[in-house]
Amino acid sequence: MKKVVLFGECMVELKQNQGAYQVPMAMSQGFAGDVFNAAVYLKRWFADIQVQLLTALGTDEMSQHMKDYFESEGLNNDLVLTSETKIPGLYSIQTDSSGERSFTYWRSDSAARYTLSLLEETAISQLKQADMFFFSGISLAIIQPEHRDQFWQLLWQLKDAGVEIVFDPNYRGRLWSSIEDTKSQYDLALQVSDKVLPGVEDFEAIYGHKNFEQVKAFCQPYNIKELVIKDGPNGVLVVHQEQEMFVDIAPVENLVDTTSAGDSFNGAYLGARLFGQGIESSVLLAAKTAGFVIQHPGAIVPKETFYNLLLEQHIQ
Ligand code: ADP
Repeated sequence: MKKVVLFGECMVELKQNQGAYQVPMAMSQGFAGDVFNAAVYLKRWFADIQVQLLTALGTDEMSQHMKDYFESEGLNNDLVLTSETKIPGLYSIQTDSSGERSFTYWRSDSAARYTLSLLEETAISQLKQADMFFFSGISLAIIQPEHRDQFWQLLWQLKDAGVEIVFDPNYRGRLWSSIEDTKSQYDLALQVSDKVLPGVEDFEAIYGHKNFEQVKAFCQPYNIKELVIKDGPNGVLVVHQEQEMFVDIAPVENLVDTTSAGDSFNGAYLGARLFGQGIESSVLLAAKTAGFVIQHPGAIVPKETFYNLLLEQHIQ
């Protein structure tokens, strides 16, 4: 069985139900986070791949609900570590009268930030058995600065053990102390990664890149084996074994919520690649998944709704 580990944070999500703000107010509660979203879509497409999150939660009830939710999505919880003192991060989504959404986060001292300090030898040996280790720019941003050296050592150890290292430079400025700090950490990430899946928008915010060519040129000096550059509906450019492939994307007309577009793309793409599919068919599956997800509200499309997409793909 192929095995993939995704490192990062899943948070408690509170979403304002429809209507104007008032107190008290009913809210819907869910769970979401970029690598978690990717893990869910990977597992939904490829049930035969073992999908594990490397993260930390607390001993509180909400942490237990989150673990149960991971299990309900078929994720393996062996690398969900437990902090005795911390609890999960939380964010809320507000929607104003014109439909514009805003996000508020309470995640600065979440359990996930301490994952590396909870990592023991047995967990490290498990990590070495994985086929793929995935992390994002958000995973990187939440590592406590004093644990960074340990993280980079771990990644090189995993790479030496034959684990494929995959990075999505998902950028959230507010999680970083400065852009210089981001750049120096991203440089280390790009040095160790075998596959990189950047969005043009992320590289524009960090390096000022405006298009596929600029992102590609920037990544060229690194030893990246597979570079998958995303740019919303403008297509996907893949550079693999010195060959380039551009895949067109059919723009979605009924766009509802772009949350998790890149995450669902990553999950489907990496699952397909692990499963032995070629680049083009993996991009097509990923684009189909992301195109479906953005026609529904929220990061995680309900399972029953998602099955329509699975069914459609299997019928074709
Ligand atoms: P991120 O969420 O990381 O910013 P992108 O916006 O580049 O990622 O989108 C990721 C993928 O989602 C794209 O490669 C594409 O497959 C799909 N996607 C995003 N926006 C659209 C759209 N408007 N129409 C169709 N597909 C889209």
